[in-house]
Amino acid sequence: MSKFQFKNEAELLATFSNPNYPGLEQYRHPFLNERTGQVWATDGYVLISIDPHRLSGDYPKLKLGEPVGFAKRTCDLTVTMSMLAETLASVPKIKEQIEVHPAEECEECDGTGEVMWEYTDGGLKVHQMEAVCPVCDGRGIFAKAVYKETGRTIPDPKAKIEVGNAILLVRDVQKLVSAMAFFGADSVHLVRDEGQTTWIIDEDIFIILMSVPDGNSNPVTKLKKGGES
Ligand SMILES: [Zn+2]
Repeated sequence: MSKFQFKNEAELLATFSNPNYPGLEQYRHPFLNERTGQVWATDGYVLISIDPHRLSGDYPKLKLGEPVGFAKRTCDLTVTMSMLAETLASVPKIKEQIEVHPAEECEECDGTGEVMWEYTDGGLKVHQMEAVCPVCDGRGIFAKAVYKETGRTIPDPKAKIEVGNAILLVRDVQKLVSAMAFFGADSVHLVRDEGQTTWIIDEDIFIILMSVPDGNSNPVTKLKKGGES
């Protein structure tokens, strides 16, 4: 779990954003949402909302609407840290890998596989068109990232946990656990378990995790309820 224990708020918030998210700036870094007055970090699948007085950083201002059904409450369940820890300990494990060499992107097209052609016609008008990158033939990368096993096993991030009427990815539940640990919370209140889950840490902090389809590729582990001791 060491990967999910963070020294500072920047590390924590970074796990809720995606710096490489294509297109949408609001998904790439934390921001002060002027619509709610809270600092948000989200990648469209998970969201953490924190009252700015609980944070020390300054965040750029953006406006982002609330997710559909944002305030809907469907349940009221207290979930303790030990219940979550016991559940994560019982999901399928995989061998941990670390990236020892990053993927090599084509510098000509920044890994997109496309470039803009420009030419000037006889009337000195400039034309632009998108085309397959001639350097990498549209592949975008020259070499895939190289990974090495660490010898440890970790909970499979793609394994699934059933909580009430929702199915959550282990990867997302670990983000919830890391936020609880960071803010010193021993328990959290689940107040919505349909379509998305809403977890209230305290009056200043809540987290939304999207529910995923059940599917059949990964077994689903039910939230353990015996770990309150
Ligand atoms: Zn290229």
